[in-house]
Amino acid sequence: MPRLTVNVRDFHWGIQALDTIDVGLVVIDINYEVCLWNSFMQNYSGIVSTKIMTKNLFEVVPDLPEEWLKAKIDAAVKLDTRTFSRWEDRPYVFHFKNYSPYTNKSTIMYQNMVVTPLKSLNGDVSHVCIMIQDVSDIAKNKLHLEQSNQHLSNMSRTDGLTQLLNRSYWESLLMKKYEKIIATEAPASLVIFDIDHFKKVNDTFGHAAGDDVIRKTAEVLRKTARASDHCGRYGGEEFTVLLPNTTVDQARYFAERLRKRIEAEVVSTEQGEIRYTISLGVCAFDKRFRTHSEWLEHADKALYESKGQGRNQTTVVA
Ligand code: GH3
Ligand code: MG
Ligand code: MG
Repeated sequence: MPRLTVNVRDFHWGIQALDTIDVGLVVIDINYEVCLWNSFMQNYSGIVSTKIMTKNLFEVVPDLPEEWLKAKIDAAVKLDTRTFSRWEDRPYVFHFKNYSPYTNKSTIMYQNMVVTPLKSLNGDVSHVCIMIQDVSDIAKNKLHLEQSNQHLSNMSRTDGLTQLLNRSYWESLLMKKYEKIIATEAPASLVIFDIDHFKKVNDTFGHAAGDDVIRKTAEVLRKTARASDHCGRYGGEEFTVLLPNTTVDQARYFAERLRKRIEAEVVSTEQGEIRYTISLGVCAFDKRFRTHSEWLEHADKALYESKGQGRNQTTVVA
């Protein structure tokens, strides 16, 4: 088999591989004429490869920031070095839409760009490769985080009945700590719990007695948690705890201790003594969670398993 045939075959595979990656790739020569326009670019721009190949990039894609992008490209060629653009400085280079399955909305695609000079066989820079990375998820998370940081400083933090953190503050805190946990990869766990058959408490002893039970629960929780733990009242008689630097085994131990303490409590009211129990769900942080909400959902599933299995128990999910 002649050598050239093998090379052509390799090239063919190479092109196919470039087409499947989830990154935009454009190769242009020094006159900005397009030599490669991969599937990612075709899909998001709606411009098929055959309509743009050998044409001037700026003529076929008129809404590019021409002057700015040419300066980036020319610098890469002249200095034989890579040039970059980050979404923080310029949200996007190519005006693409990004469809979010979470919000059911299409928004702009935030992009990072790398321009790499490419050399021909004689060693001169003859082309550049423009790589476009979709960083919409990262950008949106960061923007959301900045907004919620702003929120944190504005809103009231505690719940009136229990003096625990209220739901919105606790959630914002979780989001903030979540970023830290990802960065440091320190262990952390979430515990969520709900009072068992609480409607019966209200029905039998009255709403005021129900409030006493909620207050007592918060008091026991505060005594059981460490100062570094973040305890919140998540809903009516539902509570959440973020345990930083806590492994899953330590979290299970914490949850069981809390459960047993509540089980041993007696709340004295004018209508009589109330004994009650709680069901708990525990979930340790895992890198595979994409958001703080996904982590919380896992803990919540564990709680519902505890309810389903007969209540007054702890379920741990991985
Ligand atoms: P389960 O074991 O499945 O959790 O049963 P449950 O009866 O506890 O069911 P659920 O969690 O759905 O019931 C919550 C009840 O808590 C309903 C609502 O009337 C009551 N509740 C919510 N907030 C308060 C509050 O601030 N004070 C009082 N007293 N009751 C509340
Ligand atoms: Mg309940
Ligand atoms: Mg409930």
